[in-house]
Formats: sequence, structure tokens, C-alpha cells
Amino acid sequence: MSPSATCHFCRHEFPLEADSRRSLPRVTSDCRPAARTGALVVCPSCCLTQTVVTDDWRRAAHQAYRDYAIYEASGGAEQKVASAAGLQSRSKVIVDHLAQRHALGPSGRLLDFGCGNGGFLRAFAEQFPGWHLEGAETDRRHLAALQSIPRFERLHGVEITALPCGYDAISLVHVLEHLENPAKALAALRGKANENAMLFVEVPAWRSNPFALMIGDHASHFTAATLQMVVSASGWKAHAACEDWVPKELSLVAANGGDGGPSPDRVDYRSENAALQSAVCWLADAMVLAQDIAARSANFGLFGSAIAATWLYQGMPDRVRFFVDEDPARAGRTHLGLPILTPDQVAADAEVFVGVSPAIAPALMERLSSGPGRYHVAGEIAASGVAAAC
Ligand SMILES: [Zn+2]
Repeated sequence: MSPSATCHFCRHEFPLEADSRRSLPRVTSDCRPAARTGALVVCPSCCLTQTVVTDDWRRAAHQAYRDYAIYEASGGAEQKVASAAGLQSRSKVIVDHLAQRHALGPSGRLLDFGCGNGGFLRAFAEQFPGWHLEGAETDRRHLAALQSIPRFERLHGVEITALPCGYDAISLVHVLEHLENPAKALAALRGKANENAMLFVEVPAWRSNPFALMIGDHASHFTAATLQMVVSASGWKAHAACEDWVPKELSLVAANGGDGGPSPDRVDYRSENAALQSAVCWLADAMVLAQDIAARSANFGLFGSAIAATWLYQGMPDRVRFFVDEDPARAGRTHLGLPILTPDQVAADAEVFVGVSPAIAPALMERLSSGPGRYHVAGEIAASGVAAAC
């Protein structure tokens, strides 16, 4: 009998193909090498792309959270993203959008579910000075940092039934993709929200950044349509997910009551599966290209010090001498025991492979080409289905 899988969102049971895209390395969401625990599939019923949730996956995810080192390569500082105002923290970019586009009252109570060391809460506190803030997290290791945030009142555990009621806004920033049965969690959180409360969800977008598929502790890999589908299924009135707030991410606002946005486009299994296959083939090709350059270079480095660089490193651990990062908070530190250089510290004879999504590669390569070293980048992602042979 062939093995089967059960969709962790819609509970549909379906046969699992022998390969199911297990062979590539995986990374943890805090940028460490991870076990290859999960098959990567599209549910034939609801079309949610997902890592198949098994007991092995649960154990590996649990281990990853226990050892979690948030933003370690930048000393705990949140990652910077490109915005109209230059490099800014991701949370600052998000709260600016929330302030401009969504009517949050002058005061209220926010719960940041999965608050980490408080990056989102800190940015929210600055933008919305009349709000009282609470967080929920699996442990209390960041309590002191959270308590330094203005109007931060309480840190809860992540058992949703134990949370108090009466929130005017609930946020999940890079949390929903970790949760088994995400709609169930969102429905439970809705039970803690006031009428017309706002829900905000931020997740990675694998369609524009295939490296996000390689994060082993992510149970769901969302597109704009499947994110809206999952949030709507929980009873929140979801607006369409925005793909232009933060590069390579999806931002979704929903309300507890009232009208949401138009219904999401129906997801087509064949096109979702073909896009997934193209993305996985692109990753495999990028790895081969990087390995080839690394094998020929005496002074080889990887651009970045986060997910993509950690993933590529596993294909050539003995060849990598350094990482390169434009974020000043990361430069001068180490990642996986190797130095993180700024672009202008790269030696003239060095070869650097740039593992970034094709969407942001041209502008980045233009910046890097003006400095020392030779930079190489992967090509375009093939149109869905074209690269299905790999
Ligand atoms: Zn499903």
C-alpha cells in the first residue's frame, strides 16, 4: 500500500508519491541547518502547499523552537527590508502600511501572538501610542526585552483557550505558517477578539521567494489565494492578501465581522503543483550552479546570512569561506562559524554566489557589481510546468 498524507488544513487524505520533494536540504526559520523531515506537497482538495505534518515533523519543529535563536546573525535586531524610505525594519514597514490603509482607533488592546522578542510590538507602540500591548509566546526568555516596550502589559503562553478576551487587534507576524491546522488557531483567536476587531497576518511568499519552501518548520507555504482561503475558513472576514507591503512576503488584514474583500480566486491544483515543481527545480538548479562555482574558486562566499545562504551552505560546507551582507547589523558578526563581510570588505579575487529570489536579483546585482569581488546569480524561474522534468 502506498503511503498517504492528511492535509493539516482541510483533513483530506491523499496518496503520497515516493519522492514528494524530500531530497533537498532544509533550514530552520531561525537560519540553522535542519533535518530533511518533510514531504512538500499540494493538497489535491484545498490546494494548500504544505509540508506534510507527521510525528517526525512535529518532533523536529519542537526541537527547532526549543533552540530558537531569533535574529542571531544580527544580535537580536530584526531583519531590514528595502522600502521607499531605504532599509527599514520589517515591522516598521508593516505598521506604516497599517496606519495609512486601515482605520485603527486611537486606543485599544493588541495581542501579538508569537511575539518573539517584540519587534512588531515595539514598532506598533511607536506608531499607535494610545494602544495597550500584550504578547503570547512559547516561553518567557524575551520577557525583559518585551517589558522595555512602552505600554507592554502582559506576556501570555500560546495556549489560546487560556488567553483573556477583549482584544481590538490580533497580529501573527511570521507565525501562521508554523501552525498545524492554522484555521483552527485563527478561529480560537477570533473567540478572544471584540466585534470588528482587526486581524493582521504576515507570512512568507514562496511564489516570489522559493527559498521559503526550504524552511522545515513551516507547515503551510501560502500564496495570496490560499492565505485568504485559510483565514476566511476561520470565520474572520479577510481582505485580499497584499504582496507589495514587504518584498517576498504576504500581508493580510481581516475583521471580526463586517465585509471582507472579494472571494479569493479558486486555486487550481494543477497550476499550484506545477508552480511548486518549477520553484523546487529552480532551487535544485541554483544549488548545482553554486556548487560548480564553489568547486572552481579558492575564495568562495555566499551572499546573505539568513535562509537562502544557510540553505546553500549545506550543499558546499567545505568550500564556503565567508558570508556577505548589506545589513550593517549583521556585518562583523559570524554565521555558522564564518565571518559576515560587508560588500566592500570582499576580496577582489573572491567569487560570491547570490541566492536571492529572481524578483529582487537585478537591482541587487547592480549594487554589488560596483564593488570588489565577482558575483554570480541564479536565472529566472521557468514558467509553471516547463521545468517539471527535474
Ligand atoms: Zn487540504
